[in-house]
Amino acid sequence: MESINVNESIVKNADFTEEIGIESGQPVQKCYQCGKCTAGCPLTFAMDYKPNQVIRMVQLGMKDELLKCQTIWICSNCSTCTTRCPCNVEVAEVMGALRIMAGKSGTTPPGKAKYVEVMYDALLGTVERFGRTYEVGLVMQNNLKSGKLFNNADMGMPMFQRGKLKLLPTKVQGAAEVARIFAEVRKMEGGVK
Ligand code: SF4
Ligand code: SF4
Repeated sequence: MESINVNESIVKNADFTEEIGIESGQPVQKCYQCGKCTAGCPLTFAMDYKPNQVIRMVQLGMKDELLKCQTIWICSNCSTCTTRCPCNVEVAEVMGALRIMAGKSGTTPPGKAKYVEVMYDALLGTVERFGRTYEVGLVMQNNLKSGKLFNNADMGMPMFQRGKLKLLPTKVQGAAEVARIFAEVRKMEGGVK
């Protein structure tokens, strides 16, 4: 973890706390660092900043450090933290707002977190095309983009044999409407992917 000049960050990103509060809809200023969110989070072992640290960094306006951290991508949105917070801060929503901001800023997720972004893109790509997830296509795209061609190949065959995976994609009724929703959202976001 690189060293951080907290004072410099606070001055530079004075509006950031308010922006994340509005985007996430969460009262981030109410957090008093009890740590219950972090105590319950199942993924802290893979995070560079713990959930309570993320909220503190939001309070301090540490935008640059947060947008390029791994935690916001590692968070799985399980919401365990949310159910534990005595201040009703939905930490998962804050993580989501930070992810969106990072995506819009074009910041590349660092380290292993970049594979999470690849997976998100692949997942949304199949939903946009077929109106639903297409697991085989999702895994193939993910493996191609991450350069790990045979990742999870050992799990694929047993799932296929049990009929859990379909080789070819099927479109849901209304797939065109789903694609239109994607197009509209892109327009609303000013063409951001
Ligand atoms: S549980 Fe809530 S109050 Fe406690 S550290 Fe986490 S966000 Fe802050
Ligand atoms: S939503 Fe994210 S931060 Fe909260 S407990 Fe789950 S993985 Fe951890």
